[in-house]
Amino acid sequence: MNLCNPNTIRALMEEAGIAFRKDYGQNFLIRPDIPEEIAERCADDADRLILEIGPGIGCLTAELATRYRKVVAVEIDRGLIPVLGKTLADFDNVTVLNEDIMKVDLRALVDRYADGCPVSVAANLPYYITTPILMYLLESGVRFSTITVMVQNEVAARLAAAPGSADYGAITAVLGYYGRVNRLFRVPAGCFLPAPKVDSAVIRMDLYPTPLYTPKNEAFFFGLIRAAFDMRRKTLVNAVTAKYSHLTKEQVSDALVKIGHSPTVRGERLSTEDFVRLSDELA
Ligand code: SAM
Repeated sequence: MNLCNPNTIRALMEEAGIAFRKDYGQNFLIRPDIPEEIAERCADDADRLILEIGPGIGCLTAELATRYRKVVAVEIDRGLIPVLGKTLADFDNVTVLNEDIMKVDLRALVDRYADGCPVSVAANLPYYITTPILMYLLESGVRFSTITVMVQNEVAARLAAAPGSADYGAITAVLGYYGRVNRLFRVPAGCFLPAPKVDSAVIRMDLYPTPLYTPKNEAFFFGLIRAAFDMRRKTLVNAVTAKYSHLTKEQVSDALVKIGHSPTVRGERLSTEDFVRLSDELA
């Protein structure tokens, strides 16, 4: 069965008595080479558990199942579960869970299914909830080795931006704390059913197996990033002292000079490492 054929998708959904749900961000892939490529590039070896978020009718799930030891696919839409039962019937290494990924206990899931193997994530993410899902994965405490996801093209640009560029933002600096992000390839809007308004892109994040940065006060480190980008148009000195009234402008200026930046710099110029160093200077 070609799970990327629009007629097949429509027929499967009609048979199950369901329609595309916009509220769940349902845009299904209709170009078979794209799930193939995501599956091929989402991890470096076969002996692992892949957690897939939002399998839809299972086009990416099937490609993952042929390449990796075990796939657990979490789908929120109850209407798709019988469809997945049919489309994935040939695979004995796939488990489909009818859950909201944001409510899944990820540590418990990995304990139950990983069998000691490394764990990667692969997904064509629902766009209404991209950043919360990424943060939920990263903050779960599970040591995923890679996270490969399709997101809106402009979100991909933000996630993989370099410090100082227009796309660089709080999320970029935060992701840099957990790993390295690479933009893999662009996917035109016409590759989906129904077609969304904008193009997409696939990014792969390689997470640091052990933390690269260990700020003295992690909460303060994240707080500084938030302050810097909540008040993007202010200099970093003004943004930080507006949020942390116990710090003086002089203290923040001195700390910036110490880490090699001008006292008039804006937050968007600082790399993740700079934010770690600044937070340690000020902690
Ligand atoms: N993987 C399929 C594909 O590439 O054709 C479908 C991708 S579609 C963009 C997003 C999928 O995520 C849908 O199947 C949707 O029902 C599911 N979804 C949306 N919100 C979810 C959530 N909170 N937890 C789990 N799945 C969710």
